[in-house]
Amino acid sequence: MANDKHWYPAYVGLGSNLCGPGRQLEITFEQLDAIPDTRLIRQSSLYRSAPFGGIEQPDFVNAAAALLTRLSAHDLLRELQRLERQRGRERGGHKWGPRILDLDLLVYSQQKIAAADLCVPHPGIGERNFVLLPLREIAPALWIPGLGPIANIETSSNDPQISRIE
Ligand code: ADP
Ligand code: MG
Repeated sequence: MANDKHWYPAYVGLGSNLCGPGRQLEITFEQLDAIPDTRLIRQSSLYRSAPFGGIEQPDFVNAAAALLTRLSAHDLLRELQRLERQRGRERGGHKWGPRILDLDLLVYSQQKIAAADLCVPHPGIGERNFVLLPLREIAPALWIPGLGPIANIETSSNDPQISRIE
């Protein structure tokens, strides 16, 4: 499963709005570090934002993690989905609906992937402040394939209010 000897940088977006979201994300950082052939290198602050998409539900807490991994992008995605399932996340819910844990692979090395089940870099980076801001905090010099330097990506002015909580 491991990709020979190489360690690749990968960035993961975390989100939760159920069951103590801040605590959920703190536990998740530890679980990311425990993924086989993978190390947690940096974790962002937690950010709170109003829910998006017009559904009545609790505020979201979002964050980002920087990893080094020997897994391929697809194998890493499978590990992220395993963590979501472990936390009781049910697939097939509403796209913008409440969830205990959402893990998105935001960036994997400098790869561009457009597969049916995996789109990298994640389109949310250029579209959603709750994806962009935590990622920019931990990787201010990151180059996003297809978008360029993360420092140059503009925040969306019509997104829900987002604030750093710790
Ligand atoms: P969202 O994160 O957009 O709210 P989901 O987490 O329910 O919605 O979407 C998960 C689906 O998105 C999965 O079936 C997965 O295969 C697909 N997907 C495509 N690209 C990515 C990515 N970069 N990271 C995580 N999931 C992705
Ligand atoms: Mg997701």
